[in-house]
Amino acid sequence: MSELVYSVPVELASSRLGQPVILRAADPGNLLSLPAGYRIEDILYIRLYGIGAPPLPDIFSNSGIAIDYVLTNAADQSATLYNLSRLLSGCDLRVSIPMQPGFSRAVKLAAALSFTVKLEYSGSFPGMSAELAETLDIYLHQSTVSQPIDFFHSLLLHFIHQDAVTLWQIQEEDPALYRQINGQGQEVMAGLSTRRPLPASPASFVTDLQKELSATDSECRDCPFMDCCGGYWKWPNRELSCAEYQLPEVFHILRSAALELSRDQEAFSRDAAGRSGAEP
Ligand code: SF4
Repeated sequence: MSELVYSVPVELASSRLGQPVILRAADPGNLLSLPAGYRIEDILYIRLYGIGAPPLPDIFSNSGIAIDYVLTNAADQSATLYNLSRLLSGCDLRVSIPMQPGFSRAVKLAAALSFTVKLEYSGSFPGMSAELAETLDIYLHQSTVSQPIDFFHSLLLHFIHQDAVTLWQIQEEDPALYRQINGQGQEVMAGLSTRRPLPASPASFVTDLQKELSATDSECRDCPFMDCCGGYWKWPNRELSCAEYQLPEVFHILRSAALELSRDQEAFSRDAAGRSGAEP
């Protein structure tokens, strides 16, 4: 099994010395307060929060460590995206966008600015399905999109390569692999909300949830995407209706796109083989 990765506020970094971590900071200047002897190579990436992040301290901007910039309010911070490429130039940069009202606008802009994007989920809201559909359409059909938009991209790859992965892993929220230390030093589920307590058996959480939902929830029981979804949308709110938010449709569209891509690839390979066979 892969080593457990902790997402840790930079102020509490000393609690995970020598372990692979994702460092969280509201102010990049706080990164300078890392304890002496902290190994840069233990930092998988840095998550920055808030508007108008000042430039990273040189030691980090020159280290090649990836930056995950979190828009704390997707609807109001789209303008921030314009400044990011200048402020964090030279960094391997991803923008994480919470799925809140208005998130599709932020994704559209981030994609147009060539940012890698990750969607983060913390609960449903009216209009979510329409925004999700619009965002998926941008990812699949907008010719100007040159970088991945996750979780779409990883699910598309899953359908192409048939690898064993769940949305929990794609979103870096499977507690068997990823956990978060909140500001009070408590270990909680990874993800946007730090209020979600760690389940009693984190190592088997996803398989336990899959078993429970398959036995008790008719939507999940009949859903063809349980293997790769893992009941992601039903936790912690088991009452959420996936049909209402058209969530299985997102998987369905991505699976169809993957099939089409695979067929195109096969046809291309056949044509290429035919052409090379016809050459003298
Ligand atoms: S998409 Fe919804 S219904 Fe399907 S497995 Fe996931 S949580 Fe269950």
